[in-house]
Amino acid sequence: MSSLPLVFDAPSRGMPPRHLADLSVPERAEAVVELGEKPFRAKQLSHHYFSRLTVDPADMTDIPAGSREKLAGALLPPLLTEVRALSCDSGATRKTLWRAHDGTMLESVLMRYPDRATLCLSSQAGCGMACPFCATGQAGLDRNMSTAEIVDQVRSAAAVMRDGALPGPEGTPRPGRLSNIVFMGMGEPLANYRRVVDAVRRITEPAPQGLGISQRSVTVSTVGLAPAIRRLAGERMQVRLALSLHAPDDELRNELVPVNNRWPLAEVLDAARYYLECTGRRVSIEYALIRDMNDQPWRADLLAATLREHLGHLVHVNVIPLNPTPGSKWDASPKPAQREFVRRVNEGGVTCTVRDTRGQEIAAACGQLAGEQSG
Ligand code: SAH
Repeated sequence: MSSLPLVFDAPSRGMPPRHLADLSVPERAEAVVELGEKPFRAKQLSHHYFSRLTVDPADMTDIPAGSREKLAGALLPPLLTEVRALSCDSGATRKTLWRAHDGTMLESVLMRYPDRATLCLSSQAGCGMACPFCATGQAGLDRNMSTAEIVDQVRSAAAVMRDGALPGPEGTPRPGRLSNIVFMGMGEPLANYRRVVDAVRRITEPAPQGLGISQRSVTVSTVGLAPAIRRLAGERMQVRLALSLHAPDDELRNELVPVNNRWPLAEVLDAARYYLECTGRRVSIEYALIRDMNDQPWRADLLAATLREHLGHLVHVNVIPLNPTPGSKWDASPKPAQREFVRRVNEGGVTCTVRDTRGQEIAAACGQLAGEQSG
C-alpha cells in the first residue's frame, strides 16, 4: 500500500477514498489490523462514527492520541463539505448543498414533522434517467455516490436532530431523532445498486455496526428498473419501495419517464408485484401531477384500474404537485383538477393522497439547488 493518504491517489473526479462506512464489520477489523492496530479499535471507531456521530479525532479519547490520528486519517477521510444550507418552513426544513472531495456537488433535505424527521438523500450526483420534468434529470449523470458518501449524509442529519439544531414545526429547537430516510434526492438509487444496498444495511444495522434506523422507515424510490426491483426483493430487507409512475399508459410514460421504453408499465408493475410478494410491504406509487399532461380524469380512472389489476389493494398513490423547474414548459395541475384526480383514484379502489410539498422556496425539488450552483 502507498504511504500517501489515499485521498491523494484518488482520480480528480472519481470515487472518494475508502471510508469506515464503506466497510462491513469484519472488513473494519481487517482494515484496522492492516494499519498495525488491535482489531478492537475498529469497534471503538465504529462507536464514534455510528453511535456518537463524530468524525473528530479529538473526541475519541478512549483511543491513544497517536493511534487516533492514524485511524481517523486512514478510515475517516472527510467526504462531504457543507457549501450552503438553506432553511424554510419556519426552520423545520433544511436543505444542504454538499461538495464531495473531487468537487462534485450533491444535496440532501432534512424535514422535521411533529412525530418524525425525514432525510431525503442523494444516491448519485446528477442522474442518467433523463426524466424531462426533473431538474436533476436534465443535467445528466455526474457520478455515483460511494456507500460512505450516502451514509455520511445520514450521519450528519442524525447529528443535527440529536443536537436540536432543527426546530420543530412549532418553532422550538429541541433534540429529536432522525427516524426516516427516503432515497428521493438526486440520482436513481437502483442504477447505483450495490452501493445503495450496502448503504441501506449500514444505515439500518443496530449501532455501533450501523446507524440503527429501522428498515421499515427507509424508502427506496425508483424510475422502475424492473430487473433491479426483483433483485432488491431478494435482499431480504424490509425497505419500502416507491415507484415513480407518473402515467398509467405507456405512450405518455415513454415521454415522462424515458426508461419506460426499455421496461414498459406491465413489466415494471409485475416487478413491483414480485417485490410486494417477497416483502409483504405495500408499494408506493409516485405521481407528479402536471397540468394537461397526466392529470385528466380518464387517466385517474386508468391509473386506479391498472394498479388494482397488478397490485390489488397493497398499493398507495402519492400525488406530488409538479414543482416546475426553471425554464420548463410544464406546470402543476390547478387545485380543482388535483382534487378530482385524487377523488377518482380513491373511488377506483386505490388509496391516494397528496404529498405535502416542503421547501418550495428553497428550490428543494430534486436537483434544483445543485443546478443553480453549477448553472
Ligand atoms: N430516481 C428516483 C428517485 C429520485 S426523484 C425516482 O425517480 O424515483 C424522487 C421523486 O421526485 C420521483 O418520483 C421524481 O419523479 C419526483 N420529481 C422529480 N422532479 C420533480 C418535480 N420537478 N416535481 C415533482 N416531483 C418531481
